[in-house]
Amino acid sequence: MTPEEFRRYGYQAIDWVADYLAHADRYPVLPPVKPGELTDALPGCGPEKGEPMEAVLADFERLIVPATTHWNHPGFMAYFAISAPPAGILGELLAAALNGNGMLWKTSPAITELEQVTLRWLRQWSGLPDDWFGLTYDTASTSSMHAMAAAREAADPQSRTRGAQPGLVVYTSEQSHSSIEKGAIAVGIGQDNVRKVPVDAEFRMRPDALEELIERDLAAGLKPCCVTATVGTTSTTSVDPVPAIADICELRGLWLHVDAAYAGSAAILPEFRWAFEGCERADSFVTNPHKWLLTPVDCSVFYTRRPEILRRAFSLIPEYLQTVSDPRAVNLMDYGVPLGHRFRALKLWFILRSFGREGLASMIREHVRLARELARWIESDPRFELAAPVPFSVVCFRYKGTDEENRALLERVNSAGEIFISGTVLNGRFTLRVAVGNQATTAAHVERAWELISS
Ligand code: PLP
Repeated sequence: MTPEEFRRYGYQAIDWVADYLAHADRYPVLPPVKPGELTDALPGCGPEKGEPMEAVLADFERLIVPATTHWNHPGFMAYFAISAPPAGILGELLAAALNGNGMLWKTSPAITELEQVTLRWLRQWSGLPDDWFGLTYDTASTSSMHAMAAAREAADPQSRTRGAQPGLVVYTSEQSHSSIEKGAIAVGIGQDNVRKVPVDAEFRMRPDALEELIERDLAAGLKPCCVTATVGTTSTTSVDPVPAIADICELRGLWLHVDAAYAGSAAILPEFRWAFEGCERADSFVTNPHKWLLTPVDCSVFYTRRPEILRRAFSLIPEYLQTVSDPRAVNLMDYGVPLGHRFRALKLWFILRSFGREGLASMIREHVRLARELARWIESDPRFELAAPVPFSVVCFRYKGTDEENRALLERVNSAGEIFISGTVLNGRFTLRVAVGNQATTAAHVERAWELISS
């Protein structure tokens, strides 16, 4: 492609993006396609000779877009809604152009240092300790897996050389994300050694039950090593009592990991500082700017106050990657499984600068307001009931009927293509779940969602 051609197709692609972002609601949020339909529409083998970009772009619109679930649609209220604003897209475009790999400081001072700077800004805005070390991974699942590996390293320093010692135990609540269990699987602690601590009526980990489980495991000769608390659980966004959990961890010498993948973004609002009380005592903490801080996927931020443990767990430097040691030159490859490190910080920097803390905070505040408004409508309709408190921007509720009726309601609402909501199971009952979190979602979209749900 010549520079002139690139300019032409580039402008064309940007025009498409601008139009898409302005009118994502023209598309059905869930594509009306069947499994395998796209595969069947695409050639079975790749082209022998290069094709013109016109053809590729035309097929993007003709085949790919119709098979896309539109996470940028303002009616996307399933799971945790996310956003890709223009500033983030531009950051991603430029990162792709530079195509750097920040495995070592030398291989990209910009990737390494901008990541340290943006993560410092975010840490300061979030009221987290200033001496924490941070780096990005692709997802919270990867971040939490690294927390498990660090916890294992702290409890059993020989695990790196001889493999995991049997009997290490990890604790997390019944409501925590499955990534915690997966992390324990990945680092060889094993699924059978993940204790699911019971929760209270508001879906928060019970510290008394945590104590009891730890006591029981110690009596059985096992070795508790890590507790993962969640600030903003996946189903209901409940907040575990981190200060009480931190007390237990400190007393017992356990690694405390806090999973704030979704709700961590709310730490930049003073009115949500209560939810992060005690987090300053954590050994590690994950928050995903790609969930609620307007940063395009992927961008998960992992902080730890004990980077030397993470480094001890993973640093392995082959000859060809030897580099000059300098205290200001961070080599990101030393802090995890991946060698390569992409330029996630560029899009995060674009977002933090173009919105500012106030801009991001006011969007989050508005999402919370909209969710609470919806919760009020639900509470005042005798046919419906709230199924959990609404601390952030997710509302869990039920139609007062059977699980089948609730499932049917979900199907009916989603099939119209205007909104997409999801479900979960709480106290053994199927529950509907609306998550407000896309930048384009306004009061009118939430009103329309309620109209569709309640009609
Ligand atoms: N932790 C929590 C609390 C979550 O809600 C989620 C996903 O929704 C995750 C972790 C996993 O996030 P990721 O997709 O970034 O791995």
